Parts: sequence; structure tokens; C-alpha cells
Amino acid sequence: MIKSLAVLGSTGSIGVQALEVARLHGLKIEALTAGSRIDILENQIREFLPAVAAVADEKAARELKVRVADTPTKVLSGEKGVCECAACSAESVLNSIVGIAGLAPTVSAIEAGSDIALANKETLVAGGKFVMALAKEKGVSILPVDSEHSAIFQSLQGCADKKQIKRLILTASGGPFFGKKKEELENVTIEQALNHPNWSMGAKITIDSATMMNKGLELIEAAWLFGMPAKDIDIVVHRQSIVHSLVEYSDNSVIAQLGVPDMRIPIQYALTYPDRFESPVRQLDLTEFGTLTFEKPDYETFSCINLCRRAFEKGGLYPAAVNAANEKANELFRQGKIGFLDIARAVSNALETAPQKNDYSLGDVFETDRLIRSQTERLFL
Ligand code: NDP
Ligand code: MG
Repeated sequence: MIKSLAVLGSTGSIGVQALEVARLHGLKIEALTAGSRIDILENQIREFLPAVAAVADEKAARELKVRVADTPTKVLSGEKGVCECAACSAESVLNSIVGIAGLAPTVSAIEAGSDIALANKETLVAGGKFVMALAKEKGVSILPVDSEHSAIFQSLQGCADKKQIKRLILTASGGPFFGKKKEELENVTIEQALNHPNWSMGAKITIDSATMMNKGLELIEAAWLFGMPAKDIDIVVHRQSIVHSLVEYSDNSVIAQLGVPDMRIPIQYALTYPDRFESPVRQLDLTEFGTLTFEKPDYETFSCINLCRRAFEKGGLYPAAVNAANEKANELFRQGKIGFLDIARAVSNALETAPQKNDYSLGDVFETDRLIRSQTERLFL
């Protein structure tokens, strides 16, 4: 097992659970970062005494610096500070920052030669081409934390030849609005959209689950992580979130990973791979659930899934564009400024208007992100 770890986005839902796993296994924490919530970060610094910590928000960083002046932890600020933390000497860097803000730190961590435990799916959606190539060049592993991708990764153990993989099957809970039609979703409230049936997560991904944009993003994430074409990645709605995803092999044998819905399993596996250790997660009692159900997604109502599929198939900057539109629209919805269905409208608009460029740079990805965000804002306001 690794001995040292950095947690980027340590104050969030995944970050806090990652520190729980680290505490349980006595991992040395080298670096911690947050966006702005310094109360939580201060407590984490006092417990884990990392060499360095960073806060993206400059003002909050200044305040934290004063507060933890009595500890050995050096406090950095801004995106640059977060990237410096990512480049610390930890064996593994767990990235649980939300959104495109996670991309530059992922690149910094890979450049510094740390393995990556990746929760931040937007990193691969927008910058998959660069992240995967750089990881290969530097010889670092990108281990999935996202539960579906961890399930696929676990189901791939023992597969000697990638050619034997026929299909990846991502499961989706369907979110709080499964079974509803488009007309019924026009006026849903933020509270209704935040009410996820199976998982307790950060606000952005919870809304992504309600629109099922999350499954579209995960399709692109899986395509990059496992080098599969989008046409060989299927999605099936599984309301109970017990079967976390599956791999179909050339002989039509299907291998799946099951467990209660608890992110501490995939987080721990990304840190202990290829070994397994005890965890505080509840045992799975299948008889408690009795019935597991599997259904086709309603692609008409949850149009974001296929918009992401199309973006990935078009390639280039299209995935970065749909990701940017979604991030902005998701935020506007949470601020009460636009309706629920406007999120899919924004994503669709980005797919129509994204800059077309086959030979693109990482700089183009960030530029597209800025461009599509401001375009999305103008679309509604
Ligand atoms: P949260 O919103 O709970 O946490 C996000 C973290 O990122 C916080 O530490 C936050 O800091 C930090 N952050 C926010 N903005 C910035 C910024 N501009 N720069 C640096 N740091 C920032 O999100 P989750 O933990 O739910 O999700 C994190 C990632 O993991 C997402 O990409 C999500 O899709 C993915 N994921 C999450 C799952 C879950 O169960 N939660 C499951 C699978 C994937 P602060 O607290 O100060 O705002
Ligand atoms: Mg997931």
C-alpha cells in the first residue's frame, strides 16, 4: 500500500471520505487543498499536519495562513498554490476537486510523477487526450475513484488482452427524476433535484445525476480511461446502485462488481490497488434487497447522455465544450437563475457552437472552457 497521499479538494464529499480511509490506514498526508471552506480545512490541517496546504480563494487563503500559523503547514493560495500542492512528493495524489478546476492540478501531479487516484471526472472529459498521454509518458497510473469506473477496473483484473473486452456497461441510478417525462421536469425545484435516492454527494454532481449529464460525463471518462470507443460503452439504469458496473468479454461472459453504495470502497481500492484491506463499509446482504432491476435509460427525457456521446464521437474540443456549458448551467440552476431543462439546452447549444479544431492544445481546452462558459451565461441572462 502507498504510504503518503495528497488530497486535493479535501473539504468536499469525496475528500472527507478519502481522509477517513487515510486515517484508518495511517497514511501520511503530504498536502491538502480546498476552494474556500477554511473552517473544515483548518481542522484537517490540525489533525494531519501536512507540509503544505492551499486554498483557491485568495482571501480565504490569507485568513487560513493566520489561523494555522502555529502549525508546521505552509499555506499557499490560488490555482497556482493548488497546483504546487498537487506537485508535492506524495506517492499518490487523490484529486476530488469539482469541475474543470481539477484539470491543471492533475497535470501538475502527473508531471511530478505521482500516481493519480481520480475522482474529478471533468479532468478526463475536457483534457483526456493530454492527461492520458502525459500519464503514459511519465509512467504514472491513473486509478479510478468514480464508482462505476472502479467497478470496471475491478472487473478487468485478470484480463490479459484488451481485445477480449467486448463492451463496458455503466450502471446509472437514474437519479431523483427517473420515470418522469420532459413536461414534468420543466418546473422542478433545486431541492427536488438535490434529493438523490442512493448517494450523498456534492451539489454539482447531485444535479448532474438528476439531469443524467453525470452518466454522459462518465461515458467519456470510461472511453479515455479504458481506451474504448463510445459505441462499445452501454448504459443501463439500475435503481438500487448495488451493481456498480460490468464488463462483457468476447465469450459473452459478464463480470460485475457489487457492493453497498459507499464511496469508501472505490476510494480505498484506488489507494491500495492491487491489494485489498478491511474497510468500515457495510457488508452486502443481497437478501436485504431481494430484487435488483435493470432498465433502458429514457434518452429522450435525459438528453444530456447522448449529447455527451455525440461530443465524444465528434472529438476535438467538443467534450470540453459540453462540460463547460454543463458546469455553467448547473451553477446557474443552483442559483435559481435558470430552469432544470435549461441545463440540457445549454449543453445542446455548446455541441452546436463549439470551436472545431482537430489538432488542439491543452491551452485550447482552457480557452474553450472560458468561451463556452461566457456564451452559456449570455444564452440565458
Ligand atoms: P464537493 O463539492 O463536495 O467538493 C469539491 C471540492 O473541490 C471541495 O474541497 C471544494 O472546496 C473544492 N473546490 C471547489 N472549487 C474549487 C476550485 N476552484 N479550486 C480548487 N478547489 C475547489 O464535490 P464532490 O466531493 O461530490 O465531488 C468531487 C469530484 O468527484 C467531482 O468531480 C465529482 O464529479 C466526483 N465524484 C464525486 C462522487 C461523490 O460521491 N461525491 C462520486 C464520483 C465522482 P470547498 O469545500 O472549499 O468549496
Ligand atoms: Mg459515478
